[in-house]
Formats: sequence, C-alpha cells, structure tokens
Amino acid sequence: MLLTISTTHQPTSDLGYLLHKNPAKMQSFDLAFGSARVFYPELSDERCTVALLLEVDPIGLVRNSRGRDGESFSLAQYVNDRPYVASSFMSVAIAQVFGSALAGRSKDRPELCDQPLSLTAKISTLPCHGGEAFLRRLFEPLGYAVAVQRLALDTRFPEWGESFYYSVSLTAVVRLRDLLAHLYVLIPVMDDEKHYWVGTDEVEKLLRHGEAWLSEHPEREAITYRYLRRQGRLTRDALSRLVDATAEPLATEIAESASEEIAEAPLRLNDQRLSAVLSALKEAGAKRILDLGCSTGNLLRKLLDDHNFTEIVGFDVSHRSLEIAAERLHFDRLPELQRQRITLLHGSLTYRDRRLSGFDAAAVVEVLEHFDPAGQIAFERVLFEFARPKTIVLTTPNVEFNVHFLGLEPGKLRHPDHRFEWTRAEFQAWGNRMADRFQYTAQFRPVGLDDPTTGPATQMAVFLRKSSS
Ligand code: SAH
Repeated sequence: MLLTISTTHQPTSDLGYLLHKNPAKMQSFDLAFGSARVFYPELSDERCTVALLLEVDPIGLVRNSRGRDGESFSLAQYVNDRPYVASSFMSVAIAQVFGSALAGRSKDRPELCDQPLSLTAKISTLPCHGGEAFLRRLFEPLGYAVAVQRLALDTRFPEWGESFYYSVSLTAVVRLRDLLAHLYVLIPVMDDEKHYWVGTDEVEKLLRHGEAWLSEHPEREAITYRYLRRQGRLTRDALSRLVDATAEPLATEIAESASEEIAEAPLRLNDQRLSAVLSALKEAGAKRILDLGCSTGNLLRKLLDDHNFTEIVGFDVSHRSLEIAAERLHFDRLPELQRQRITLLHGSLTYRDRRLSGFDAAAVVEVLEHFDPAGQIAFERVLFEFARPKTIVLTTPNVEFNVHFLGLEPGKLRHPDHRFEWTRAEFQAWGNRMADRFQYTAQFRPVGLDDPTTGPATQMAVFLRKSSS
C-alpha cells in the first residue's frame, strides 16, 4: 500500500525538512508488522512528492499475535486484504515514520509547521465501508477537494463488478501536521476494521490527533465510534471529552461496567432514544402526554422534570412495572402540585380504552415489537383510531443495525420478548400505511449514530394528525 504526498510549495525541498526525510536517500524502517520505505518519486523546482510504501508481512503478523488470544490456526489469518490496503497499519506507519511532522515539530523549519501549504495526498487502495458518499462526508468538511476512483474487483473480469476499494486523492491548503492527523484518524475509520485490540489508550490517541478538528466535524460521532472499533463506552468517553475538554476520563467506569454488558448497553441507546422522543414531543408543542408501555418510568421521570408537560399519564399492561415506576418516581413524597401532574394507569393497548382519549401526544417507545400479529392489529386501532392524539412519537429497533452488537448472535433479536424487529424499509412501509389509513402524516427520523450502511440503532416515526380529521 502506498501513500504519496505532493506539494507545489516552494522551495519544494521544504517538504523533506518538514518530514525529517532527506529527498536524496531512500530510507527503510522496521515496524512490528512489516516494513516501511520512504522515498521521493518526484522532486523538481515546481513539485515534490514523497512516498510512504508499506509492506505488511502477513506471516509475521500471525506469528506475532499467536498465543495472545488463544486463537487457533485459520486460513483467514493468512489470506486477507490486510497486506494490500491502507488500514490502521498505515496510521501506525505514519505515526512512527513521520512522528515529528505529525507532532508539528521541525528542527530546521519550525515556522513552516504552522503554515498551510498546498498539499495533495494520494492513497492507492483504500477500503471504504460506507462508500464514496461517506468518504466525502469525512474529508470535505475538513476543506479537501476529493477525487475518487472506485476500483474493480479484478480488472481482468469486469463482470465481477466493483469493490469497496478506492483510489483517493485529497487536495487542500492545509498544514502538513493536520493532513497527517486527518489521515492517521480517518484511514482506519474508512477501513472500519482495526488490526489491534482497542483499549483506553486509543481514546487518548484519538483525542490527541483529533484535537484540532474532530469536535467540530459533522461526522464526529461516526468517526469516534468507528475509530474506537464500535466500543460504546470508549465512544462515550471520547465524545464527552471532545465536547467538554474538562470532562474526566471514564476509565474506571469502563472497567467496572464491563461485566454488565447487555446487547444494547454500550451505546446508552436508551438515553439517546428518550432524548429524541422528548425533543419530538416538545417540537410538537404537546402538553398533555401519554406514555404508552411506560414500564418502570424512564420517560415519565424526564417528562416530570420538564414543566412544559402539564399532564402525564403512564400506561402499561404490567402491574409490577407500574408499582416500580411509582416507587422510582417517589409518588409518596412528591409535592402536591407535582403529584397532580402524573397518573399511572393499568391496561392493555390491545383493548379500546376511553381513558386514553383527548391527549396532545402519545409516546410509544420500544413497545410495538412486543405485539403478536393479532395484538398489533388491535393496537393499531386503539392508538390511531380511538386514542387518536394529535401527535404520536413511536420508536422501534432497526434490525439492520444488529450486526454492530458484538454480543448478539447473527439473526438473533435484541430481546427475548421481541416478536419481530424491522428493517428501515419495513418500518417506513408500516408507518406510511398507518398514516394513510388513519389520516396522519408520518415522518421518520434516525436515533443515535446513523451508520451509512446499516442506519441507526433505533428508528423513530413522528405522526401528526391531519388538521381536518
Ligand atoms: N417504553 C419503555 C418500555 C419498553 S418495554 C422504555 O422505553 O423503556 C415494553 C413495555 O410495553 C413493557 O413495559 C410491557 O409491559 C409493555 N407492554 C407490552 N404489551 C403491552 C400491552 N398490550 N399493553 C400495554 N403495555 C404493554
């Protein structure tokens, strides 16, 4: 795999000083997984190009990792794309071979380190999960002009179609240290498959190399999530520190909570979901709210804390859950005015219930997937025809996202009590059908990171009753 960086900055020899690499010599470096070579395929008065050529040794790679995780022999360890594509190996090479330049140090040209130069980086074979659109969303906000060529799987057999490998050229007027930092972080993000275990020190690396640009990047969540190998807790730690530089590292929390892993826990999905639901309710200007299938009261707590909501009704078929909700919300100790704002009702959403009529909005959070087919048909009428609130905010899992839950076996649903989980297309088809049939409009929104391939973890529909109905 090959990375080249070209400049038209003059004198062109400055690039060599900035990189601490003499254009007259070819230099070799031994790395843990292979070797790197630096040379200058082009050096004239107008233009200078430096090349970093990386050769990964697949046999050494396997040998080095043997015994660490007790993996037995597998052909996939030897036969894979790692030796040939730009991956996190390239990042390691950048850090080791161009370390001073990445850190913004130059013995001979210190002033140049902070000077934006006209630079073009080319990466020969870059795997990009998420395709060209994602690649552009990563680099264009950083000011790069992006040229992309998608590579064929095998040029001898055009009928095999195209691969997810790209040849990429990035041009900008940018400080060399920033270009290197962008590549260091974003190459593995596009590859989405890191060769080494990701631990807390990776958070530090990400924050160090992303310091100057990541907190403002529109894709910062996706970048952080993928860079940290989809480890939810590390992602949260990094994001909170990116946004708030004074936040403490979560290292101890990470260690402590590692054992309480349930399928969805790493993403704090529940929090994201409830915030999204709350915003949608507020946006609709709703004051009198139903929480249908409220369970033990997570959303009720948030509704109660917000004085925009004047009347709150929690409704659930599980009596025990309602008892727990009452305890958790301290019903016995609530001041009278607060106590009057909230009611808990026991009932089933598969039966028409007059107590549910006349509300501004209903939240139905992660309930739909619990109904069997007959229950679902009844529920549709109970909600849209009889309760008929002005606004309905409904969420359900997006089954396409399940591949990211490391603890979840392929094909398994997130919860044993789920009767089904839908793709985005299935959910939207259902939502549109409900809207047509019951005179609502339907709008669909992602909740959580909207992964370019699978979509978000949770899908949300906001239904608004049509004014004439
Ligand atoms: N909205 C909550 C709970 C989701 S779990 C949250 O997001 O945390 C699904 C809830 O739906 C459970 O509390 C379950 O008791 C409730 N439920 C399932 N079938 C129901 C029915 N027929 N009528 C009312 N509630 C039901």
